Amino acid sequence: MANNNRPSEFAVIGLGRFGSSLARTLMSRGASVLGIDRSPQIVQQMADELTQAVALDATDENALRDIGIEAFQTVIVAIGANFEASLLTTVALREIGVQNILCKAQTTRQREILLKVGATRVILPEHEAGQRLAVELMTPGMLGQLELGPGFAVMEVCTPPSVVDEPLGKSELRRRGINVLAIKRGDRVIVTPSPDTVLRSDDILVVLGKVQDIERCTRAE
Ligand code: ATP
Repeated sequence: MANNNRPSEFAVIGLGRFGSSLARTLMSRGASVLGIDRSPQIVQQMADELTQAVALDATDENALRDIGIEAFQTVIVAIGANFEASLLTTVALREIGVQNILCKAQTTRQREILLKVGATRVILPEHEAGQRLAVELMTPGMLGQLELGPGFAVMEVCTPPSVVDEPLGKSELRRRGINVLAIKRGDRVIVTPSPDTVLRSDDILVVLGKVQDIERCTRAE
C-alpha cells in the first residue's frame, strides 16, 4: 500500500475499452492491477500489461471469493452494455464485503439501481464527457477543470481579454465573485495574488467560482 491511505491495488472487472484504459493508466501510475474478464482471449491479450489477469464470470460470487477478491479495498466494475452482469457483480462484491465498489453505468436509472444495491460510486462516462466538453466549448481559453460540487469548479483559463491590464482587485473577475487562486506567469507561479496585481494577456489564471460566472467572464469581450 502507498502513503496517505491512497490505495495502490485495484481489481478491474471488465476489460473492454473503458476497463482496459483504466487498468493500463493505473499500472502506468504505479498501482497493482488485477484484471478480470469473462473472455479468456481478452484476458490473454492484457495479461502482460497487468499485475495479474484472470478469466472468470464476475456474477459468480464463489469464483470471486476463490481468487481472493476480498483482499482488494477498491474494485471497479467496468461492465457497461450488459447491465444485468454489472448489477449481479455489484451485489456479489457487496456480499463479499468489498469496501469501495465503483461502477460504470449508461443511464441515470442504472446509476440509481447500482447505488441501491451497494455501489459506492457510479460514473456515467458518456454523460460526464458530454458535460465536460460543453463547459469547455462555452469557456474560451479553458485549459483544465476540477469540479468541486454542483455548479462550482476550479478552472485554469487564459486571461479573459476584458480584464487584461487591470488590477485584479478592480477587475470584472472580482465583481463576479470569481476568486483567482494563482497566476501562472512564464516560469513563475504567483499564489494568492494581491488585489494590485495587474493581469497580463499571457497570464494563465487558476480561478475558483461558479462555472456559469467563469463562462460569462471568459466570453465577455
Ligand atoms: P466498453 O465501452 O468499455 O468497451 P461496454 O460498455 O460495451 O464496454 P461490455 O461490452 O458489456 O461493456 O463489457 C466490457 C467487458 O466486460 C467485456 O470485455 C466483457 O467481456 C466483460 N464482461 C461482461 N460481462 C462480464 C462478466 N459477467 N464477468 C466478467 N467480465 C464480463
